[in-house]
Amino acid sequence: MSLPSHPDLFRRLPSVDEILRLPDLDLLAEECGRDSLTEAARGELDSIRGKIAAGALGEAELQVALDGLPERIAERARQMTRGSLCRVINASGVVIHTNLGRAPLSRQALEKLTECACGYSNLEFDLEKGERGCRDDHATQLLAQIFARQGASGVATIVVNNNAAAVFLALASLARGREVIVSRGELVEIGGSFRIPDIMAESGAVLREVGTTNRTRIVDYEQAITENTKLLLRVHRSNFEITGFTEQPSLAELVALGRRRGIPVMEDLGSGSMVDISTFGVSGEPGMSDSLRSGVSVVTCSGDKLLGGPQAGLISGQPDLIARMRHHPLFRALRVDKMCYAALEATFSSYLHERYDEIPLLHMLALPAADIERRCHALVDAVGTAKATIVPVCTMIGGGAAPGKSLPSFALALETPRATALARELRRQPIPVLARIESGRVLLDLRTVDKSDDAYLTERLVALRHWLCPAGSDDTGEENNG
Ligand SMILES: *Cc1c(COP(=O)(O)O)cnc(C)c1O
Repeated sequence: MSLPSHPDLFRRLPSVDEILRLPDLDLLAEECGRDSLTEAARGELDSIRGKIAAGALGEAELQVALDGLPERIAERARQMTRGSLCRVINASGVVIHTNLGRAPLSRQALEKLTECACGYSNLEFDLEKGERGCRDDHATQLLAQIFARQGASGVATIVVNNNAAAVFLALASLARGREVIVSRGELVEIGGSFRIPDIMAESGAVLREVGTTNRTRIVDYEQAITENTKLLLRVHRSNFEITGFTEQPSLAELVALGRRRGIPVMEDLGSGSMVDISTFGVSGEPGMSDSLRSGVSVVTCSGDKLLGGPQAGLISGQPDLIARMRHHPLFRALRVDKMCYAALEATFSSYLHERYDEIPLLHMLALPAADIERRCHALVDAVGTAKATIVPVCTMIGGGAAPGKSLPSFALALETPRATALARELRRQPIPVLARIESGRVLLDLRTVDKSDDAYLTERLVALRHWLCPAGSDDTGEENNG
């Protein structure tokens, strides 16, 4: 071991005990816990020791470091105990952003969740009979009413952890060791490593690919059917489009073939909306009940995509097939908790009451572009520089819904020579702001920003005004690499 370069500097370091007796830190112990504070103090002292050893601190610098020590210990202790998950403002212009937690929950869902999850609930208890009940009666009864109103009666549903789990359970219960026919044009990968062929392999079902990437005809399915075929699977191409020379049998043709040969058709809808979202300007996205009305036997979708609810996987369809999944041992492993049922019930309840605006996702889809433009104007006026302007943009639906479809919106365009650095600075704000960069400008699309966050956004943009300067005219915006 080499000798420290400045031995007497080391002697000036206080002990951990001495530091923790400082009144400010003593108070903080209540907030963060004494152990965290001790650990933070050790960490900060170690870091100073390291700098002394490296000869990076002189007498004067050490004094500065010691003066700032309590504050840095406090910050380190807070950071250690805070956890990493935090709220962000999504100004990226992608409504269902998987990396940002997909659909925000409604106030109603939150209230019900608090009510049912912070205390006891009748999760698996029949209050009428006073005996054990069934958790999967919750939420699914409301959903059955929604389907019935939309012309799909007698539909059963079970809820699992997410749509990947839904597809997995359906395949394992209905086709383990048997063949499932899928078009080569639908062997999709959804962001975050959901691959139909992999899920199928894990479920024990045998994939039988038919057709080609761009064209699959009904005869391709027909010719592939053997006595071993248990399912015809249709997968919604949720994150891409095949255009040009393409062909795909209609759902009706597939159902007719299935009926003729006694084989159920299953559809993985991915997003699966519960209302006709073409009224919000997003066309061509099939709803769960469209699929069920076409005669599909089993439909699966996510709870946190277009549905606008919590993370969940819904499996709806023919009661006898759903019953087989409910009794499969995997169902126990994939089931959801009381929080999920509570949030789903509140979300379905909003649908039943036709109070679509309560669901944040539908609210965002329905926002008139003119309203968004007005909010942009208010922001631009407040920031007050020619470098912040308003541009028309397209909000993407995202999350594996309506591929290539978008809604007209408006964004704040921030002009800066260092767009990447400004985008990072926005992410470093107390509530991180996620923007996107287009043509060298930082864009903040307000369709996905809650109106109540406009004030915060204004405040932060005013604080970051110095970034919006032409190259070379000012260097106060220089990135701080510290
Ligand atoms: C999103 C999606 C999935 C995966 O759903 P999760 O809820 O994320 O598990 C599966 N299939 C399709 C078609 C999808 O769009």
